[in-house]
Amino acid sequence: MSIDLHKWSPGRVVELHRWADALYSLRVEAEIEPFEAGQFGRLGLMLDGEFVSRPYSFVNAPEERPLDFYFIVIPDGRLSPKLAALRPGDTVWVARKPSGFFTLSQVPAGKFLWLLATGTALGPFLSILKTQTPWQRFLKIVLVHGVRTRSELAYQATIAGFRSVHLRQFRFFSSVTREPGGDFSVRIPQAIESGLLEELAGTALAPEDSQVMICGNPEMVKDTVALLQARGFKENLRKSPGQITTERYW
Ligand code: NAP
Repeated sequence: MSIDLHKWSPGRVVELHRWADALYSLRVEAEIEPFEAGQFGRLGLMLDGEFVSRPYSFVNAPEERPLDFYFIVIPDGRLSPKLAALRPGDTVWVARKPSGFFTLSQVPAGKFLWLLATGTALGPFLSILKTQTPWQRFLKIVLVHGVRTRSELAYQATIAGFRSVHLRQFRFFSSVTREPGGDFSVRIPQAIESGLLEELAGTALAPEDSQVMICGNPEMVKDTVALLQARGFKENLRKSPGQITTERYW
């Protein structure tokens, strides 16, 4: 089987960074078309004569290089264990055309931007926060990262960088659910339901002035959307703008 070079760019692995047990960031130099922060690319490898590819969000800002992909190894997955075995200098195929609608250009105006992620779905939010747009458009930005254990709190230096540049505009909270040590230990929907997140953030989560982007575990996305809908939030659809913009990560 041959690879369509119009669709696929040969990427050169620059670095494979291991954050925790099954969590990695793959940094790649590849020629691709421009993308908007929040979009995803595709990575592919030729495995036993078959070309296998999967979508992965960009963590890097659109102008930033190398490309940066944050991923979890799915034990019985076809591609992710092979990505985790790559070494600098290896080739990984990168789709030339990025895709996706989980971007700020799809999000209506608001005062407060709430970014809720579990696991590797932190990635698209980091890309977005590395651009100027969210800081110009919103008075205050609250990023929440939900993980099982503290070791899964990746990209802490990047997040600390946002905090130091946007001290008054930015708040970050970790939800670590299976051991102590996060800013809170309940799941994200529970932190919203109990009012804990608003209390910590010092900001009300209300449809009048908040926009919420949610990305990650499909069950977390579903539960959080239902909770927000009960508070009067509406899903942001192309034909009818709302305050909840979502991306299910698998
Ligand atoms: P995860 O199970 O998604 O947990 C991350 C955080 O989300 C934890 O704090 C967890 O809380 C919370 N959470 C789980 N279900 C929730 C719900 N219904 N509502 C609210 N919060 C919820 O863990 P992960 O390590 O990121 O991913 C685990 C597995 O997901 C992987 O091993 C893989 O099987 C799958 N996954 C698949 C892909 C893919 O592309 N196919 C990508 C990423 C992950 P608790 O600790 O209370 O559960």
